[in-house]
Amino acid sequence: MRPLTGGAEGGVEAGCTGTDDDQLPLGRGHGPVRYRAMRSEPVFLSHPSSLDHDTGDHPERIRRIEAINAALEARDWLGYERISSPAVERAVLERVHSPAHIERVTAAAHAGGAQLDPDTYVSAGSYTAALHAAGGAVELVQRLLAGGAGQVGFSAHRPPGHHAVTERAMGFCLFNNIAVAAQHAVTALGVDRVLIVDWDVHHGNGTNDIFWESDQVLFVSIHQLPLYPGSGHASELGRERGYGYTVNLPVPPRSGDETFVSLTRDVVLPLARSYSPQLVLISAGYDAHERDPLADCRVSDAGYVAMTALLRDLGAELGVPVGCVLEGGYDVDALARCVVLTMETLGSGLAGPDPDMDAIPVHPLATEALARLAPLWPDVSSQR
Ligand SMILES: [Zn+2]
Repeated sequence: MRPLTGGAEGGVEAGCTGTDDDQLPLGRGHGPVRYRAMRSEPVFLSHPSSLDHDTGDHPERIRRIEAINAALEARDWLGYERISSPAVERAVLERVHSPAHIERVTAAAHAGGAQLDPDTYVSAGSYTAALHAAGGAVELVQRLLAGGAGQVGFSAHRPPGHHAVTERAMGFCLFNNIAVAAQHAVTALGVDRVLIVDWDVHHGNGTNDIFWESDQVLFVSIHQLPLYPGSGHASELGRERGYGYTVNLPVPPRSGDETFVSLTRDVVLPLARSYSPQLVLISAGYDAHERDPLADCRVSDAGYVAMTALLRDLGAELGVPVGCVLEGGYDVDALARCVVLTMETLGSGLAGPDPDMDAIPVHPLATEALARLAPLWPDVSSQR
């Protein structure tokens, strides 16, 4: 079921990923999506250029990726297939970003570095890093769709992406990696409906704006408000055929597992069941963590495991792949630990029911959100 005020029912015909046809997601409109049953190894996308985006002592620093890689190395990469991310093709990038913006980033890097906004730095290596960060997200989506049901993956690069808008860099982000990947899925891979769940503590304003008028991407964001960038109020719902396909779930400072897990379980999941996405992507930031220095939320390691397990099980229920694209997370130890936990939970299915997480009651913010969304998504309220 789509929002009552949504756009046309029909979607584009399933396209070609460039692989065998029997590996394609063939969902159209509201019909069931059929994937091949065989499950591939989970995939991990990365590229050494993430270490060339030199931001010095900035919180979004090289050490973040070094810590993630070291933690994964210590766990023998959790059985993930490691893939070197290609640079994104210019035409794919230009589906989301203006040539003028891309040229600004290029020129800043070629000049040896620049500051594009009060928070956002470019070094000599940043343009190449950003191309591979976007390219990794695109490659992740291609692998997810080729793998089909049960396929999972994680794309871990710097710079992050979800604040970048069409025309400019913002909030540590140069190109909007997850938006470029989602748009590629829609434009080039024949996907009609992508769900993006953004659990980074900051509002993913770039993704929000890029898909503001689209019903082919359902963007759901859980974020602290007030906090940078200041957008993401519950009243921001999209426009025209995209109305109702942007769902903002702001939470107050000091929110923890009881809020994030409930909103995921009690709002995101019913919305997703109603929307029936063919692909689930997570803007996986870890700055809502209780140890994070840039925000005031209190999500625990177990909270990230619980949210991951909920979305992994959603993918299994809907028969669609699930992938993560790294966003923020500025306590390096917590970041590395939680990326490992996310990948372990996604990839192995080991995380079983957690009594503490299962016992989390429906949060009042979830009840409010369901009531607010009921006129747009009548299916959602009736699921509980
Ligand atoms: Zn963030």
